[in-house]
Amino acid sequence: MKFEVFEYMEKYQFEQLVLCHDQSSGLRAIIAIHNTFLGPALGGTRMWTYQTEDEAILDALRLARGMTYKSAAAGLNLGGGKAVIIGDPRKDKSEELFRAFGRYVESLNGRYITAEDVGTSVQDMGYIFMETKHVTGASTSFGASGDPSPATAFGVWKGMKAAAKEVYGNSSLTGKTVAVQGLGHVGSYLVKHLAEEGAKLIVTDIYEDRVKTVVDEVGATAVDSKDIYGVECDIFAPCALGAVINDETLPQLKCKIIAGSANNVLKEESHGDLLEQKGILYTPDFVINAGGVINVADELQGYNRERAFQRVAGIYENVQKVFEIAKRDKIPTYKAAEVMAEERMNKIARIKRTYLGEHC
Ligand code: NAD
Repeated sequence: MKFEVFEYMEKYQFEQLVLCHDQSSGLRAIIAIHNTFLGPALGGTRMWTYQTEDEAILDALRLARGMTYKSAAAGLNLGGGKAVIIGDPRKDKSEELFRAFGRYVESLNGRYITAEDVGTSVQDMGYIFMETKHVTGASTSFGASGDPSPATAFGVWKGMKAAAKEVYGNSSLTGKTVAVQGLGHVGSYLVKHLAEEGAKLIVTDIYEDRVKTVVDEVGATAVDSKDIYGVECDIFAPCALGAVINDETLPQLKCKIIAGSANNVLKEESHGDLLEQKGILYTPDFVINAGGVINVADELQGYNRERAFQRVAGIYENVQKVFEIAKRDKIPTYKAAEVMAEERMNKIARIKRTYLGEHC
């Protein structure tokens, strides 16, 4: 079936889609701006070998909409946007490609602010920074915030504690068993917070060296990657891929809580309903994994790591609010997270209807 761009934009209320082409650098990029009710649209730039243009456009649109919800739920004054560059991040990167892209970002006059994402790095953000100030996540040597993963992991840890409080009446993770799937950028920091607090860790990754490092450093128990879903634990922390809660994995789960960094954890919304029926508390992904965006957003005021991490710690309260809305509206937590974001966007959009005079 043909993908109808305007139909999709109308259905999900998108504001703008920009196609960027630069002959000399070979740049083919797409910038999607979903919603700017709360402020400029912030979201990373993904570089990927998309098979078709439709696939790239749909990915940019889908990810931009996700950012609107993530920032709104995190209490940030930011809208949702995302960019994709069509190309192979292992072969097609160059200074001129990212600078050409930076010039397109600049042309949007701050309506869109970019950052790192899958396939792009701190160095690439540095090239973009040469052409526009509307970029976050460049090197700390530019006064930027650098790698967002420590902040994401810190936020996941705080959100996990809020979930523990909800289920066990106490936010302490001491003695709790946490099964961590994926020991990459986020997972490797998360296990350190958990170990320091005295949690028992069961870990897995598809790379044996990453598992070995964590086992040696924090004394975790390693399991095969296919066995992680069925282990006896209090909390399952997906920090690898999306769609890991699905028809196949759901019957295996023995945890009481799901709380991790991965995006799009539920394969389908119905899996969120099934988790609720099974008595497993799902901590919605875009609320608990917002530490990275909260951290980069701090750059807009001149980056201060201590202040940024204090804000990230607020994920504890945000997760609690989600649970309150779920109880108030008698809905599963994944829906409550959307309600929380939409309520904030609508309230702020309403106060902005007041005319402030011609110089405002
Ligand atoms: P990463 O690529 O550094 O780490 C992912 C890890 O998962 C890798 O070590 C990989 O080997 C492992 N993995 C892949 N498939 C696996 C499987 N089947 N079983 C076990 N392990 C597997 O990525 P990351 O930056 O740590 O991000 C992890 C997740 O969190 C992703 O879903 C990402 O979208 C999400 N996220 C990350 C950030 C951030 O700040 N990095 C922010 C928000 C959300």
